Amino acid sequence: MHNETLGQEVTPVGLAGFTPLIDPSLAGHREGTLLDKYGRRISYVRLSITDRCDFRCTYCMAEEMTFLPRKAVMSLEECLRVASVFVGLGVTKLRITGGEPLVRKDAMWLIERLGALDGLKNLVLTTNGSQLDRFAAPLFAAGVKRINISLDTLSPERFRNITRIGDLSKVLRGIDSVRLAGFKRTKLNAVMMRGTNDDEFIDLVKFAVENELDISFIEEMPLGDIQGRANTYISSEETREILSRQFELIPSTEDSGGPARYWRIPGSESRVGFISPHSHNFCDTCNRVRITATGELYPCLGQNDAVNLLPVLRGSNDDIALRQAIIDSMGIKPYGHDFSQQMDTPQVVRFMSMTGG
Ligand code: SAM
Ligand code: SF4
Repeated sequence: MHNETLGQEVTPVGLAGFTPLIDPSLAGHREGTLLDKYGRRISYVRLSITDRCDFRCTYCMAEEMTFLPRKAVMSLEECLRVASVFVGLGVTKLRITGGEPLVRKDAMWLIERLGALDGLKNLVLTTNGSQLDRFAAPLFAAGVKRINISLDTLSPERFRNITRIGDLSKVLRGIDSVRLAGFKRTKLNAVMMRGTNDDEFIDLVKFAVENELDISFIEEMPLGDIQGRANTYISSEETREILSRQFELIPSTEDSGGPARYWRIPGSESRVGFISPHSHNFCDTCNRVRITATGELYPCLGQNDAVNLLPVLRGSNDDIALRQAIIDSMGIKPYGHDFSQQMDTPQVVRFMSMTGG
């Protein structure tokens, strides 16, 4: 693999048996480019704007969740400051996520300002879809480019069981609103769960094709202390095999710079993606960091190391220290996660709703 930043060959890596190139002096910032010590360019930030949610998906949250006190969560102004500094450092893509981002009061205030940031080319959102019938049009007007909507099942009863409190019909209305608002390339995200939705994978792809949506299947990740994962885990490989009984899947060369690999279905615009942290390691091209609602910067979804930006944000009104803290955080970005197939033991203790997926 040729690394453009380093201008030299880097050994492609798998889960085991690699020797990543490490040059600590690379970590930092050069001419609008955030670099980690492996020479990877960090151009993508996922920003969680709340830990709260109107659903309680079984794989994501405990039934009885204690949410953070408001003071512990970044204000919308603080979210905007963090995002602006990242954009000033060369970040071009920002995903707003949560918890459920659209249940955050005045979320549109923030999103409108993010949409106006000079240099931010790609403002995108991940949502459970429950509020999209209200928000699709304002999101489009604010300059959000694409929306990912989580949908694990088309059965109202199953939907209720998976989300514990969600209403499928509201999400389906939300999906319609997104199309009517003018969004293109909207993507569904479905977590694969054996015994829960594995008999629906074909129907979910048909639904995506009929509604001109992309769809990604996600391997369940061992985040947060949730029992019984080992019994429900399904690999992308197995799902692709199930889908190939019904659809011709043509590998696509498109690369998101992230964990998704895409396939196309002939005669349709829809892409089918697989997000496979277990079965395919995607760390060698990782271009992203995550910010939690409490202002913690996690350089890797699958590791526990973080830098707390909140004291820096609240310690001074100018952005010099914040900018430096972000640049310094590049030095702790690890080469990769080490999710294993040991799904019953949480390798990362925080829930996905904390880091935003
Ligand atoms: N509430 C929004 C939603 O559901 O789309 C945004 C936040 S949610 C944490 C982001 C994504 O993470 C969703 O697609 C969800 O299905 C996925 N997710 C949550 N917990 C997961 C887990 N343990 N393994 C894999 N995906 C997970
Ligand atoms: Fe809420 Fe999204 Fe987590 Fe489901 S996956 S509980 S919708 S944050």
